[in-house]
Amino acid sequence: MAKPNPCLDCGACCAYFRVAFYWREAEPSDHASAVPQDHFVELTPMQRAMKGTEKKHRPKCVALKGKIGENAGCSIYDLRPSPCRAFQASFENGIHQQRCDEARRAHGLRPLVKSDWLEFPTPQENKSGIVI
Ligand code: SF4
Ligand code: SF4
Repeated sequence: MAKPNPCLDCGACCAYFRVAFYWREAEPSDHASAVPQDHFVELTPMQRAMKGTEKKHRPKCVALKGKIGENAGCSIYDLRPSPCRAFQASFENGIHQQRCDEARRAHGLRPLVKSDWLEFPTPQENKSGIVI
């Protein structure tokens, strides 16, 4: 039986780190999937940050909707900047990610473990996954 992706309801990293990226990622004349114009702030002439994540106290990305740890999700998923695409959840690819743990802990969520990603057959399934 497949387990749901733990990121799908989490969102902790979107309300913990500053999400900074190169200005061209928010330049609509450069590419069709630019970060929406009302979703970022200018950090420096070359650098942008997702709005809300630049705050030192309780940063939270403006694109994050829902409740962290319950039903949080990115409202601009296909347009999110490169740091969001590169960020890896702990054990998603079998490797422990300290930053994921850090964000989750800050929101009262336990760190992910390997078994959060593994699929186990239910008692009704045989080894090939076929329900018997
Ligand atoms: S753009 Fe989406 S994925 Fe990136 S920090 Fe904001 S809510 Fe999270
Ligand atoms: S903190 Fe970790 S588990 Fe939560 S959304 Fe970010 S990468 Fe996924």
